[in-house]
Amino acid sequence: MRDNRLMPLDPSSNVLEIYPVGILRCNCTLLGDTAAGEAMIIDPGDNIPMLLARLEAHRLRLTQIVITHAHIDHVGGAAALKRATGAPILLHQADLPLLAMMEEQAGWIGVAPPEVTAPDASAEDGIRIGLASRPAEVIHTPGHTEGSICLHFAAEHLLIAGDTLFAGTIGRTDLPGGSDRRIRRSLRERLSPLPDETRVIPGHGWETSIGAERAVNPFLRT
Ligand SMILES: [Zn+2]
Ligand SMILES: [Zn+2]
Repeated sequence: MRDNRLMPLDPSSNVLEIYPVGILRCNCTLLGDTAAGEAMIIDPGDNIPMLLARLEAHRLRLTQIVITHAHIDHVGGAAALKRATGAPILLHQADLPLLAMMEEQAGWIGVAPPEVTAPDASAEDGIRIGLASRPAEVIHTPGHTEGSICLHFAAEHLLIAGDTLFAGTIGRTDLPGGSDRRIRRSLRERLSPLPDETRVIPGHGWETSIGAERAVNPFLRT
């Protein structure tokens, strides 16, 4: 994924920007509707001043912070972003134990522990989130972590996959809360049925599509 990529789906009002943030280069996504003046940010792992500058540049008010799972590279900047904007944080409740392990997680990658705050709501399976004009459905995809979710913007054929699915591979399952059996089931039962044209923005690395992954990724074969 290129840095500083600007990919308007509808040049009149839609903003979709993806920024690899932090030392692990987590793909942080900014989705906005400039007509409504609203935005959501998914996985603000780090680089919060840059994200605030992007909101300011588009004159967007942040209404939601969504975390695909509570690994430090995805959630590390959430508390700071909430403090700066007032936007609520959504994280699946099954990842609360991981959120409570932030000092240990910081030790894994050799960084200072970030500020942590409790989420405002649980990103439960099936709930509708997103912007008024750009709704998404939460798909609970346990396996990489117990509370891992994907966000499916069905009308836009877009999936924000977190660390559940990468181009050509899948997320690791050897960290606390990980389960090889569960991630295989999540991929087979929840992601594989999505339409081939679904564009996939993974938690790290290059974007892909469900169709491309169904062709090359054995975990997506039904
Ligand atoms: Zn992760
Ligand atoms: Zn990650």
